[in-house]
Amino acid sequence: MPELPEVETIRRGLTKFLNGVKITKIKILCDKSFIGPKEVAINQKIKAINRRGKALLIDLENGITLMIHLRMTGQLIFRGDENFAGGHPTDSFVNELPDNQTRVIIELENGTLFFNDQRKFGFIKVLETVEVENDKFIKSLAKEPWDMTFAEFKENLMHHKSAPIKATILDQKVIAGVGNIYADEALYYAQIHPSYATGMLKDAQIEKLLEGIRNVMQASIDSGGSTMKTYVKADGTKGDYLRLFAKVFRREGEPCERCGTEIIKTRVAGRGTHICPNCQKEGR
Ligand SMILES: [Zn+2]
Repeated sequence: MPELPEVETIRRGLTKFLNGVKITKIKILCDKSFIGPKEVAINQKIKAINRRGKALLIDLENGITLMIHLRMTGQLIFRGDENFAGGHPTDSFVNELPDNQTRVIIELENGTLFFNDQRKFGFIKVLETVEVENDKFIKSLAKEPWDMTFAEFKENLMHHKSAPIKATILDQKVIAGVGNIYADEALYYAQIHPSYATGMLKDAQIEKLLEGIRNVMQASIDSGGSTMKTYVKADGTKGDYLRLFAKVFRREGEPCERCGTEIIKTRVAGRGTHICPNCQKEGR
């Protein structure tokens, strides 16, 4: 599932190809995947591509915004003189399109943008740009890690004193954009056990945790996220972008970089969870 850094990577990639370009045609292959009247987006130039949490916002010059949620399996694949793809990594990144997972085709002056979504939980929604902030999804989001102060983070955390810290930071109303990968990585960074009670955290730990969330997300963005570039390496073999920055996620059985102890996979807050049992001792 694409997390905030992956969506930010897609935003940056698409900005390069779509900024200032006119949409000429929209073909909807699955009704569920496109909400609202497509006509208002036709013959309109793309003014900017923004992001709020995991939502991509394609702003058009006539005051319309196409809000895109990739959810579990969504992908955005641009084909033109140059190609770009991001989102859930599959062979659709490189295969001929449309394929049987293509839900919406957006024709542009300089190429075609395919919205693929195997499980159909993602969607594109037509909104007035001024209404974006009132959208129920956007409204419920807390600030992003880069915009949140220590005091705000602490206050939000302390609404969930008895909950395990991992569950608390996965709550998008506490801090926006932290998914399973980044929760594990940030807790490892801050040396906090994921099931530690939120209300027991000391200020120094909260500070370290916020720093960890920022650092691991930035490292992921810098690594190129889940895109065509990291999916297929230059030599044609398949890459795994997680290997570029993740210290514990999907590294069970490998030695901890800090202390050499074997990383284990456990379950916290109903989610698969990766920890170093030495650096992240229970009860701390
Ligand atoms: Zn360790």
